[in-house]
Amino acid sequence: MSEALHQPPFADRLLCWFDVHGRHDLPWQHPRTPYRVWVSEVMLQQTQVATVIDYFNRFMARFPTLDDLAQASMDEVLALWSGLGYYARGRNLHAAARVMARQGIPETLAHWLALPGVGSSTAAAIIAQAFDEPATILDGNVKRVIARHAGIDTPIEQSATIQTLYHIAKEYTPHSRFADYTQAIMDLGATLCTRSRPACDACPVAEDCVARQTARVEELPARRRRVAVPTRQGSFLLIQDQARRVLLTRRPPTGIWGGLWCLPESSSQDAAMCSDSVGIDPWHVPWTLTPQSDQTRVAHFQHRFTHFVLDASVHRFSVNTHPADADPAETMWLDLAQYRQDMMQLGLPKPIQRLLMTESLDSMCPVTLSPSPDTLGSAPFLSSH
Ligand code: SF4
Repeated sequence: MSEALHQPPFADRLLCWFDVHGRHDLPWQHPRTPYRVWVSEVMLQQTQVATVIDYFNRFMARFPTLDDLAQASMDEVLALWSGLGYYARGRNLHAAARVMARQGIPETLAHWLALPGVGSSTAAAIIAQAFDEPATILDGNVKRVIARHAGIDTPIEQSATIQTLYHIAKEYTPHSRFADYTQAIMDLGATLCTRSRPACDACPVAEDCVARQTARVEELPARRRRVAVPTRQGSFLLIQDQARRVLLTRRPPTGIWGGLWCLPESSSQDAAMCSDSVGIDPWHVPWTLTPQSDQTRVAHFQHRFTHFVLDASVHRFSVNTHPADADPAETMWLDLAQYRQDMMQLGLPKPIQRLLMTESLDSMCPVTLSPSPDTLGSAPFLSSH
């Protein structure tokens, strides 16, 4: 008979370990209200605890209650989200806050799932942590722990694998202490059963871990073969008026950097063509952009998204007149000195924020925020994604 059959249940061993070694001082645990747990769980989607803590604390200082968040503008929310990435989360959080302000905070899994930006694992984490009710979470950490412990070796991205992991995760869930158990399995994945070099010697469920018994800890969870992340070229326009204010336009509500303020994007990679290809929708009038010097390219940066790396150039132009019919909800002229001084509450993509904060941008010296490639290519840009 195998030694594993004599082990106490998975959850009992995990909870004993959690009582001593788990994380009991996370800011959303004190107090552990549904509002705070929900905000933290949305922030924790795709993002590690260490990164989230500061964002969460700033968010709670500004929006201590659900009503505060519901009454805030989208710009304020996105400004506090800036740098956390995956901005659809911030937009959905704001939309869901407004729904909850009208309808009340849900208490069932189904009602949480009906809110924008709340998927099955997030809803389960909220139910378990905020209400101490049974629910099965399956975030990235939990998938890794279960796949290793149960020895599941099919690619973790496949829906059949996810189904299998879900059923095992449900079997492992105890009949009490749901909030603690949920935190415990997330902590195990984050602190011991880590992606590389897990600390199996300290693991409370090591005795019957299949991956460990079969020396496949580094192989599991199995993944589909990765394809190389492509690089896409893009151009942004730094358009300044006579007061040297910078034109910002709001990006479309969905897609990359959706709803954020940004420098206008040009569909052309060719600096000479930029002024002919400004896609600024609110204006339907001819508009002349004048290069401020022979070299219009004033900055370069790279930014990594999940599926591609953006390799962007920024070209500077001047305008002498403001087109009259611009919608102030979609365009604004930003005073850079004031922005740098007060960090005005604007939701800007992180690389654009870094660029505008760079004081040498005011000179004619080119600014590079990341290693520069040799050439500008001609691949399609953001607007196609
Ligand atoms: S023994 Fe190692 S691989 Fe298995 S669950 Fe524990 S930490 Fe993960």
